[in-house]
Amino acid sequence: MSKTSELDRLKEEMMKDTSLPLQESNLVFGEGNPDCEVLFIGEAPGMNEDREKRPFVGRAGQLLRRCIRDLGWREADVYITNIVKRRPPDNRDPSEEEIEKYKPYLSRQIEIIGPRVIVPLGRFSMNYFLPFAKITRDQGKLFQVGGRFVLPMLHPAAALRGTGAMNAFEATFLKLPVALEKIESGALDRPKVAQGPDKKMEDVQKKLF
Ligand code: URA
Repeated sequence: MSKTSELDRLKEEMMKDTSLPLQESNLVFGEGNPDCEVLFIGEAPGMNEDREKRPFVGRAGQLLRRCIRDLGWREADVYITNIVKRRPPDNRDPSEEEIEKYKPYLSRQIEIIGPRVIVPLGRFSMNYFLPFAKITRDQGKLFQVGGRFVLPMLHPAAALRGTGAMNAFEATFLKLPVALEKIESGALDRPKVAQGPDKKMEDVQKKLF
């Protein structure tokens, strides 16, 4: 079965799963190229995303999408999704319980896509891969987790709140093509399969930059 069909099936399954929280809002499954090298993962859809059923289409999304294009990439070449795939009311943060309920679906989505690099945007999706990491300290570092490379970034909404955060966000973005090049050229060790996101977390930052 093609990745597209597998993702379609996963989406159907999610639509039917009434045990998932936040049923009053739309499912925002994610979009992009299932054969992408880079997968961006945000926290949860907001009002605009809920209305359009597409991830990152509001102000923060425009920043994310502009940065992708500024690398000379097309938005359609990457894949963009969220850890929680329905909108928490009043733009509140997703709860622990909501995150737990949506996690298994994110994990299957990642397995299907099989990206080279995962970019968690903000602490909620970063903590899915790196439970002990701190976003301000660890954004911009390349980790290997569970057989994958993970490069956490600040959430673009945080970048919009101040010059320092914006500079950090843009600087980390510029590391993405460098990381990909190093990974493809074999300059970095292949990620070892860890026993879970919280085990054997290895920071390969030194080898990168
Ligand atoms: N913030 C997110 O984390 N995800 C979106 O899709 C939009 C805003």
